[in-house]
Amino acid sequence: MLQNISNFVKVFAILLPLITLANDRIFPLDESLKKEMQGSSYHRGCPVELSDLRLIKVKHHGFDSTTKQGELIVHKNIADEVLTIFDELYDIGYPIKQIIRIDKFKGSDFASIEADNTSAFNCRKATGSGKWSRHSFGKAIDINPIENPYVFRDGRTSHKASYKYINRNIQNPKTPQEKAMLLPNSNTVKIFKKHGWRWGGDWKVKDYQHFDKP
Ligand SMILES: [Zn+2]
Repeated sequence: MLQNISNFVKVFAILLPLITLANDRIFPLDESLKKEMQGSSYHRGCPVELSDLRLIKVKHHGFDSTTKQGELIVHKNIADEVLTIFDELYDIGYPIKQIIRIDKFKGSDFASIEADNTSAFNCRKATGSGKWSRHSFGKAIDINPIENPYVFRDGRTSHKASYKYINRNIQNPKTPQEKAMLLPNSNTVKIFKKHGWRWGGDWKVKDYQHFDKP
């Protein structure tokens, strides 16, 4: 018995650094973060518990071609997968302007988009609907929203800077902004779909920035 315990302790001691290493980019929400989210991206009645969300740290290329780090809040069940997806986006060189938690914008989707900010969890209703958005479950991500606008049926968009990206007919993307545009044949779109995510660019009302996991 004692021998068994001692063996268990030894094995655990060997495995512990590996376990820690695998999770050094995924964190449960600590008290100060929960506090910051309350009344911002999170409020009473939200369809997910804060304990089911995770903070993840992702690496990405910026529009200035330097490597940056961003923070996303996502559901615990997809945290590993989102890390893998963002690693793959990094490997193909996909540029992302910035990835800042939406609490820094007081939970305002509009302000986050104006800043061309990429974000995931935000407890809110879907645009033009009374239903919870997939963002409310931490299972949706909006990427480079200025270059990938939500376009209303009549062709309008809510953000001035997005007007030049309504025409998606681009042959040879050169600038980081053009490379950030998500198109049906984009490798970024292919990576998300490979992991079973849906893309808003496939919908009748186009939400080019939006990916979600059903
Ligand atoms: Zn979205």
